[in-house]
Amino acid sequence: MNFLEERIKKEGTVKEGNILKVDTFLNHQMDIDLLKQIGEEFHKRFEKKPITKILTIEASGIAIAYATAQCFNVPLVFAKKSQSINLDGDMYVSEVESFTHKIKNKVIVSKSVMSPTDHVLIVDDFLANGAALQGLIGIVQSAGATVDGIGIAIEKGFQPGGVTIRNLGYQLESLAIVDSMDAATGEIVFRKQ
Ligand code: 5GP
Repeated sequence: MNFLEERIKKEGTVKEGNILKVDTFLNHQMDIDLLKQIGEEFHKRFEKKPITKILTIEASGIAIAYATAQCFNVPLVFAKKSQSINLDGDMYVSEVESFTHKIKNKVIVSKSVMSPTDHVLIVDDFLANGAALQGLIGIVQSAGATVDGIGIAIEKGFQPGGVTIRNLGYQLESLAIVDSMDAATGEIVFRKQ
């Protein structure tokens, strides 16, 4: 087991509705050393790519993106969620259905922070159905920039997002892939990678 799988095994809790809670080290309290390790691991996996920007979505992706951006020494951009329809033309906009809250958000990035010359590494904490990633990919495409890779901390491999995104041809690297989890027993099974 790698460092993240070990931590999930130790402190992760499984909730009804296919939710894995990692609030003691990633989603509420954040373990800074663990975040640093995640950033370094993404750097190792994508260092040959000419990354100019790290992109994530608020709020829980920001800490991972920060740790990653530090390793690449590039800026991080976080897409903002907004339910408002009063957006001016200076924004790239995608629509994303939230896995955890089941509401649709518009996800926006200002045109001033992404351009066609950018090579983007997208990162996020979880991958479930892939809606958040598809929204972020859409934003990069609208900017005419390039998605050079996608780094995910925890992929829930029993949900369809990973297959969908890999089938689109992207290099998707997930540090931990949960193949199954059981709310009744708390058991979490990881995919061997
Ligand atoms: P997707 O768009 O891939 O369906 O869901 C990804 C987003 O939903 C992530 O940004 C994450 O914030 C949230 N998410 C999905 N599944 C889980 C989960 O099991 N636990 C937690 N804490 N967040 C999740």
